[in-house]
Amino acid sequence: MANRETIAIVPYGAVTPAVIGAARATVAATFGCGGVELPARTIPAEAVDPTRRQCSSRVLLADLLTCVPSDARCALGVTAADLFLPPLTFVFGEAQLAGRAAVVSTCRLREESYLRPPDLSLFDARLRKEIVHELGHAFGLVHCDDRDCVMWQSATLGDTDAKGAELCFSCRASLRSHGPG
Ligand SMILES: [Zn+2]
Ligand SMILES: [Zn+2]
Repeated sequence: MANRETIAIVPYGAVTPAVIGAARATVAATFGCGGVELPARTIPAEAVDPTRRQCSSRVLLADLLTCVPSDARCALGVTAADLFLPPLTFVFGEAQLAGRAAVVSTCRLREESYLRPPDLSLFDARLRKEIVHELGHAFGLVHCDDRDCVMWQSATLGDTDAKGAELCFSCRASLRSHGPG
């Protein structure tokens, strides 16, 4: 087996240390990779849609591909900005399937975004699910029809809360066949 692979963690704009810590822990626990934090990047101007007040996930993926270190398995962007991907009005994240870039937004994972009191443990659980889900795509996994599997597609926050935090047996098996040795 080759050296332990790394995943570059790339903050876009201000991202809290807790979010970076959760990303690091998640890449280690689920993918067995080391998380290496890169310097924060500015959200590219062309990613921002001023009318929607949202940020294009597709443009962030393209930007990530310009900065992923050659020795990293992939880059994981994290941002507090709200992401969109037409025709969807928003996305929790997006990834290049079996590719080298994934991005996750914390915006809609916080209870405060819905004018409810903050709940840090709920936020952390949602964040970890979204990170595993998007990195799962980058590692070649597609959506899973097991509602308990983290690769179940989340269209709403309720979907994210209802699904499990882990890969199911069959997703884990296909991760092994695509993933690091
Ligand atoms: Zn997905
Ligand atoms: Zn699954």
